[in-house]
Amino acid sequence: MTKNLTLIQFFHWYYPSDGSLWNHFADETNRLSKLGITGAWLPPAYKGASGGLDVGYAPYDLYDLGEFDQKGSVRTKYGTKEEYIRAIKQAHRNGIQVYADIVFNHKAGGDEKEIIPARKVNPDNRTEFISEKYDIESYTKFTFPGRKGMYSDYVWDWHSFTGVDRDEKAQDNAIFSIQNEYGEGWEPVNDDEMGNYDYLMLNDIETRNESVREELKKWGEWYLQQTDVDGFRLDALKHINPYFMADWIAHMRSVAGRPLFVVGEYWNVAQTEVLLRYIDRTRGEIQLFDTVLHIHFHNASQAGKDYDLSGIFHGTLIEANPMMAVTFVDNHDTQPLQSLESPVDFWFKPLAYALILLRESGIPCLFYPALYGSDYKDKGPDGEDHDVHLAAVEELKLMLPLRYEKAYGVQRDYLDHYNVIGWTREGDDEHDHSGLAVLMSNGDEGFKSMEVGKKHAGKTFIDAFGYRKEKVVIDKNGWGTFLCNPGSVSVWVLR
Ligand code: CA
Repeated sequence: MTKNLTLIQFFHWYYPSDGSLWNHFADETNRLSKLGITGAWLPPAYKGASGGLDVGYAPYDLYDLGEFDQKGSVRTKYGTKEEYIRAIKQAHRNGIQVYADIVFNHKAGGDEKEIIPARKVNPDNRTEFISEKYDIESYTKFTFPGRKGMYSDYVWDWHSFTGVDRDEKAQDNAIFSIQNEYGEGWEPVNDDEMGNYDYLMLNDIETRNESVREELKKWGEWYLQQTDVDGFRLDALKHINPYFMADWIAHMRSVAGRPLFVVGEYWNVAQTEVLLRYIDRTRGEIQLFDTVLHIHFHNASQAGKDYDLSGIFHGTLIEANPMMAVTFVDNHDTQPLQSLESPVDFWFKPLAYALILLRESGIPCLFYPALYGSDYKDKGPDGEDHDVHLAAVEELKLMLPLRYEKAYGVQRDYLDHYNVIGWTREGDDEHDHSGLAVLMSNGDEGFKSMEVGKKHAGKTFIDAFGYRKEKVVIDKNGWGTFLCNPGSVSVWVLR
C-alpha cells in the first residue's frame, strides 16, 4: 500500500549533551513508525571541534563517528559509533529511513598551525580585497592524531581551504581569502549575497582542489558502507559550489546501489527564484527545504488575523516546484535563541502543521520539539539568560495518523478568504475510510462550504479533534459546510 512520506528532524539545538540521542532514537522508532513517520534526519554524527558537546556543525573529523579519543571525548554529543549504527538498524526494522547530516562547507579545530599567504576581504563584499597578500598563521592542518590514519590518511592543510577568519600571529579576526593555487578568491556559489558568500565560518573547504573532491567522495562511500543510511541532509548549500555538490551526490547515487533521498538547506526566505536556480544548477539532484514557506508561517503566527491566509503559499518553493520541496515549520536554527531565530508562535503551529501534513504536495519534516516538547536556557542577543519552554503540539498525535490513514485522493482547494481557508481530500480506494476536510481560521470562527466528492454523499463527517461538536452531512452533490473555532484548525473525517 502506498504511504505518504513523512520526515522528522530528530533533534534540536538544545538536546542534552549526554550522549543519549542515538539510543533515544532507537527506542522511539517503533512509536514513530506507528505515527506514520517514514524518514528521520539525524544530526551530524562525526566528531566536532567541541568533542562531546558539539552540536555537529563545526566538524573536526568526518571519520570519527564516536570511535576515537579526540577533542576530549570518544563519543559525540549524541553517542558512540556503535550506538549510531544500532539506531539506524533499529529504524530500518521499523520501516524508517535515516538521513545523515552532511556539513561540507567548513572544518574546525585544526591540529596544527601553518603559515599561509592570504588577503583580507571586505566582510560586506567578499569580492573586494582590502589588503595585499601577506603571511598569516592559522590552524589549517588536520592530522587527526587520535585516529592515526585509520580509514583514511588524508591530511588537510591550507591547500584544502579557501579561507579562514583568524590570524594567530597578529591576533587578528577578519575574513582572509587564502591565496592558494586554485584561484585568487572564492569558489563560485549560487547567489551574490555579500558579493560572494562562499565563506561562512571557520576553515572553508576548497572543492576546486581535486584531492579534496576525491577525499570527500571516498569518505561518502565509506560512510554509506559503514552506516547504511538512506540519504542525506546537506548543510549550508548557499556557501558551497553547487557544481561540486551535484557531482558528489551523483557520485554517491551511482555507487550506492539503492535510491538515496537528498534534501538541502539553502537559507533564503525571500527569493524562491534563487532556490529554483539552485535546483537547476544541481540538475534536480537535491530537493530543498521550503524556507520561504517557513517564514510565511512565522509571519502569519506574528500577525494573527492581519495576515492574509489566502496567500500563505504565494511565492513559496512548494507553489513553484512542489516535487522538489521539503516543507517544515521550525528547525534547529530558527528555534528561539538560535542564529536564524524565527519561531512560529504556538497558537499557529497546528495550522502550519495541517498545511504541510494534510495536503498532497511536498514532503513534510516535523521538528523534534513539536512532538516531544523542550525546556532550555541560553543567552539571548541581549546577553541575558532566557528560559525557553517549547510545548509539544498535542494535535500532532492525531494529525500524523490522519496523514497516514486519510490524506489521499483528489485535493480541492478553498484558499479563498483572508482569514478562513480550507481544502478537502476525496480519499481513494486503496485506503479505507480515507478523505478529509480541513478548515482553519486566523481570526473569528469560520465556516465554509466545500466539496469532498460525490462518493461521500449522505455520509457524516465529524471533527477529529473534537473542537466542533457538529455533524456535517454531505449533500447529494458531495458538498458539506465545515466549521472551525477562532484561531484554530479542525480536520473533518468520516464518522
Ligand atoms: Ca564555502
